[in-house]
Amino acid sequence: MRKDKKKVFNQLEKKMTADDSLPLKKGATRLVFGEGDIDADIVFIGEGPGYWEDQKGIPFVGRAGAFLNQLLDVINLPREKVFITNVVHHRPPNNRDPLPNELEAYAKYLDKIIEIIDPKIIVTLGRFSMAKFIPGVYISHVHGQPKQVTWNDRAITIVPMYHPAAGLRNGNVKQATIEDFKKLKDILSTKKSKIKSDLEPDQMKLV
Ligand code: URA
Repeated sequence: MRKDKKKVFNQLEKKMTADDSLPLKKGATRLVFGEGDIDADIVFIGEGPGYWEDQKGIPFVGRAGAFLNQLLDVINLPREKVFITNVVHHRPPNNRDPLPNELEAYAKYLDKIIEIIDPKIIVTLGRFSMAKFIPGVYISHVHGQPKQVTWNDRAITIVPMYHPAAGLRNGNVKQATIEDFKKLKDILSTKKSKIKSDLEPDQMKLV
C-alpha cells in the first residue's frame, strides 16, 4: 500500500515536470514539487518558489524557509515529518504574486498532491493558499483559527497562517505567527487523541 502511494506520487511529479503547458515553467530553473513525508497528517502550503527554491528544487530553503524551520522547532515538529509545497510550483518572475490563470493551472497538480497525501490538517502560509480553502476572508482576521472544511469530499482542518516572509518584514506579524504555531501544537495533539479514540483497540496498534 505504502509502496503504491509512493509510486503514484512519483508518477505525478514526473508528469508535472514534463508538463510544458504550465505557465511559469519557461522562466523558471526547475520545478519545486514539494518535500517531506507523503504519509504526513499535516501539509503546509505556501505561495511559490523564490530564488533559492528555484535553484535547489526544494520549497522554503531561503530566508522565509529559515523562519519556517524556526517555527517548526518552536513546537518540536520535525520538518521531515510534514509535507511542504506551494500553490504554484515554478518561480514567478521577480517573485511577483501568482496570477489567477497560474493558480488555476497549478491547482490540478496541487489537488492531486493533497488527494494522495490525504492530510488531516493543512496549514496555509499566506493569502493565496488560504483563499483556495477559505475564500473571501482577510488573513488578519482569521490567522491561527482552525476551520473545518469539506474539500473534494474530504474533511480537512485548515489552519490559516501569515506567510513567514510577512513575519520577517513586520515584528507584530512575526510574534502573531509564533503564537499561531503554538496553537497549532494544541490542534495537533487534540487531533491525534481524537484519531486514536475513533479507532478500534486493534487498529490503535497501527497508530
Ligand atoms: N515562499 C513560498 O511561498 N514558498 C517557498 O517555497 C519559498 C518561499
